[in-house]
Amino acid sequence: MKLIIASNNAHKLTEIKDILGGMFEEILSMGEAGIDHETIEDGSSFMENAEKKAREIAEISGCCVIADDSGICVDALDGAPGIYSARFCGRHGDDAANNRLLLEKLRDSDDRRAHYTCAIALVRPDGSCVKAEGYMHGVIGFDEKGSNGFGYDPLFILPERGGLTAAQISPEEKNRISHRAQALHALLRELGREE
Ligand code: IMP
Repeated sequence: MKLIIASNNAHKLTEIKDILGGMFEEILSMGEAGIDHETIEDGSSFMENAEKKAREIAEISGCCVIADDSGICVDALDGAPGIYSARFCGRHGDDAANNRLLLEKLRDSDDRRAHYTCAIALVRPDGSCVKAEGYMHGVIGFDEKGSNGFGYDPLFILPERGGLTAAQISPEEKNRISHRAQALHALLRELGREE
């Protein structure tokens, strides 16, 4: 069976292909499948957004489609920025401004706990949907460290990795432990393909 990944993000494509490769005959990005479609992400949760993206592309393509939505949730900010992670500062995708705003909001906070969440939805041509979520826990540092990764990674300290940030570990290691990897393995379990 053919699977379309509802993304053109190279990083996500590699990660998803690595983990789900054995299950599908062919895995294509939206670009490779010749689909140009922008979903309006107006859901009230990561999962609503992921399912909406997967359903729209499944309807257009008639294929199995996987979509994800992710972000960072900070305890002291009652889970913000959450689904608004990419546009926390008011502009879409300005990582430097998002990180500055996060540090500013946590300036007087001793509670630095946070987690990344990734919601994944797989929609089949018959409309059935399999869902899974994954998390990566950490604490928000006081300054940016490291140049790997993207987004909030230079601020995201991993206590279980000796206090390195997600931008200081290798991309391979991050892909092994990330919220996206956890969600993909949870999806495989839902599909009965993993213990
Ligand atoms: P999306 O799932 O690609 O829409 O990602 C939403 C936003 O969440 C990104 O723009 C980042 O700000 C943040 N984010 C999600 N996953 C990560 C990650 O692994 N590292 C850093 N930031 C992330």
